[in-house]
Amino acid sequence: MGKIIVANWKMNPNSAEDAKSLFDAVKNGINNSKAEVIICPPYVYLSLLRGLTLGAQNVSIKESGAFTGQVSAVMLKDIGVQYSIVGHSESRQYLKETNQDINQKIVACLNNDIKVILCIGENEGPASTPGYGEAKERKTEVLDSEILEGLSGISEENLKNIIIAYEPIFAIGTGKSCSIEETKQSISIIKNAISKIYSQKSADEIKIIYGGSVNSQNAEGYLQEAGVDGLLVGGASLKPEEFIKIVESAN
Ligand code: PEP
Repeated sequence: MGKIIVANWKMNPNSAEDAKSLFDAVKNGINNSKAEVIICPPYVYLSLLRGLTLGAQNVSIKESGAFTGQVSAVMLKDIGVQYSIVGHSESRQYLKETNQDINQKIVACLNNDIKVILCIGENEGPASTPGYGEAKERKTEVLDSEILEGLSGISEENLKNIIIAYEPIFAIGTGKSCSIEETKQSISIIKNAISKIYSQKSADEIKIIYGGSVNSQNAEGYLQEAGVDGLLVGGASLKPEEFIKIVESAN
């Protein structure tokens, strides 16, 4: 399978017209790409956009009922959405989502045939930060618990419907992308956790993508050297030319 390139538009752009033109520019620019491109716009634009695979940026734990402000996996499925981001660090931080909430969101998605992009990542500085030795231990602890608790009760069979997005928090929206070496180390921590919970086969097969200040200059390095299956792109996904170059680097 080709590489997976996810666009997380976050809370952008400000109008439906701009959302449609951004989407069309990307759609027309990535003709014949071998990559699987997944666009995650704000909820309100999802049913306006057609012709590329769509993902939501979050999803409710619940399927229906008195949950003001929430959107269910059932609703996403009904309008043709195929994926949902779950556990993005901004949702963990601002909406106070816990690993247990995230686990229930994953269950809600899988029960409704929505594939999951599960975001995990430590809140430590990059390897150059003084005292990083201890930080590396804390990183392993954070990644292990986000995987163990996030995937609690999820069958091995269902792992094929889950993409893990490794997104170190220091790299998100900061322009300070994670080094290739450190990304490789994190990928092996993640695979190790999956092999302990499931099997070596699942660790080998699980799809892991990298996110954090990806741009057209650094994308190829991650795809070729860090051993990732794709990229999650925030800021750069709002600039069509930049995003198209990132998608091209996956060919
Ligand atoms: C993200 O939104 O998950 C992200 C990685 O953002 P950025 O590419 O802007 O760092």
